[in-house]
Amino acid sequence: EKYFSRSSGFLDSLFGSDEYVKAVDGVSFTLDENEVVGVIGESGCGKTTLLKTLMGLHDPTGGEIRYDGTPLSSFDRSEWKAFRRNVQIIFQDPFNSIDPKMSVQETLKEPLKIHDMEASEERILDVLEQVELNPARNYLNRLPQQLSGGEKQRVSIARALVTEPDVILADEPVSMLDVSTQASVLNLLSDLTTELGVSMIYISHDLSTVGYVCDQIKVMYLGRIVESAPTQTLLDDPKHPYTQELVSAVPIPDPHHQRDRTSIEGAVADPIGLGSGCRFRDRCPDRMDICEKTPMNVEHGAEREVACHLHYDHERRVQTGADGAS
Ligand code: SF4
Repeated sequence: EKYFSRSSGFLDSLFGSDEYVKAVDGVSFTLDENEVVGVIGESGCGKTTLLKTLMGLHDPTGGEIRYDGTPLSSFDRSEWKAFRRNVQIIFQDPFNSIDPKMSVQETLKEPLKIHDMEASEERILDVLEQVELNPARNYLNRLPQQLSGGEKQRVSIARALVTEPDVILADEPVSMLDVSTQASVLNLLSDLTTELGVSMIYISHDLSTVGYVCDQIKVMYLGRIVESAPTQTLLDDPKHPYTQELVSAVPIPDPHHQRDRTSIEGAVADPIGLGSGCRFRDRCPDRMDICEKTPMNVEHGAEREVACHLHYDHERRVQTGADGAS
């Protein structure tokens, strides 16, 4: 029950004057202390809206987000300031997320000054060593254009860590890096969250990177979480047809066992005017008549939840017959 909990039933994103889209709908989960939770889904599935809402940049129109037990909606000015210090973000694009005119040292001192923390050179050197930019002193006065993509992302990670946060929100943090750099930055993130005891929500469209760093995975499709399970359970035995498609599309780094495809067939539906029913049904190879009704999230074993009619027992199927059950 630490950090975030119960981000449930909120509606987001306004299109035009009177058309609304539930970009994030019925999402509910808890991020515990020292836990790394991955949110995976294709582009347009609501991951970024979820992240912005968790940051307090969007107000949910239903449900609430709690941090350390307190709803964000009830924060006063000092609680917001503490939240901004304790919850930091790593952006997808290291090339645009750092001010090109600021040296590494200035970039890292800025959040310390904003949060009235001691902006000493010693603290800057410490955090540069944590992100393995060595020798740290050599990086202090470098400008972003003097850094590689991987070094820039390490500076972004250092900027997120410098205020000693409890929670990191990572938005596709390696997707703009070349493959060889991705592995080293993923290793760094994995080591740092363990060593520093920081919790993280890691958002990505790439199941292989999510699987590498996360303890738990939540699979999102068109604004809803359709499957949630511990990482290895989900990768070894995906239950939801969308998760199965995602897992089967992960590239295998072995030339003798290549897969036919590395993306799933079809496109994510237009979120406007979706109506009721399973949102994956247009792409689902297992679609049934009952899929015109909305499946609700149900427990599947001790550690997993799945929102799919294939995995309901008969009694539950009857119970969830009403549309909008989620
Ligand atoms: Fe496929 Fe139906 Fe399950 Fe949706 S509810 S994933 S359409 S089987």
